[in-house]
Amino acid sequence: MFGKNPIRPPEKGDGSVLKVVEVFPTLQGEGPFVGHPSVFVRLGGCNLACDFCDTEFEAFQDMGLEALVLEVEAQSAGLRDLVVITGGEPFRQEIGPLCVALLAKGLRVQIETNGTLWREIPEGVHIICSPKMSGGQYHPLRPDVLARADALKFIVSATHPDYREVAEVGQAAHGTPVYVQPMDEYDEAKNTANRAHALKLAMEHGYRLSLQTHKMLGIA
Ligand code: SF4
Repeated sequence: MFGKNPIRPPEKGDGSVLKVVEVFPTLQGEGPFVGHPSVFVRLGGCNLACDFCDTEFEAFQDMGLEALVLEVEAQSAGLRDLVVITGGEPFRQEIGPLCVALLAKGLRVQIETNGTLWREIPEGVHIICSPKMSGGQYHPLRPDVLARADALKFIVSATHPDYREVAEVGQAAHGTPVYVQPMDEYDEAKNTANRAHALKLAMEHGYRLSLQTHKMLGIA
């Protein structure tokens, strides 16, 4: 959306109906679960509007929880046992019941979040948090997210004024693994510089490197 999306506050509701953009089978392309066969559930709307955001998340429609779980199960097909709930910002909506239902089906669940919102979710759900900035400052992370996050994934750029470095946003107290992922600026020269920058940060600070392998492979 490249920062052009409306900023949407948290939704009311009990989670029996969710605003869903798409459900699709793929491989998780980035972060700690890279390469895992997955079903992605993309939920609508975000509470932030990042200028580099490359995701369409406004074309959503209401979907009942039961139908959504059936769709995920169908696309899982016994082959993909990881469900990635992403957005937009998934914690904008009441996703607790969805997580409960998916775990009850024997599926693993991973949430991709910007870390600024929270809902009660069952134990065992994996959280990957990608902190986002505005005006040179990281948006503060919810303590609940920090306490539960499996990893923090920092987007880094060689030239974007806000994303040159990784900051301490609470990860030290929890010993949370830090990943650096080069920003995709849709410019090969910039992207080459961003990869080199991410590699340098990883080598100098002991961060883990995350590359967007789904883009390299040309898959969603
Ligand atoms: S938080 Fe994520 S989904 Fe929301 S605008 Fe920023 S990059 Fe896009």
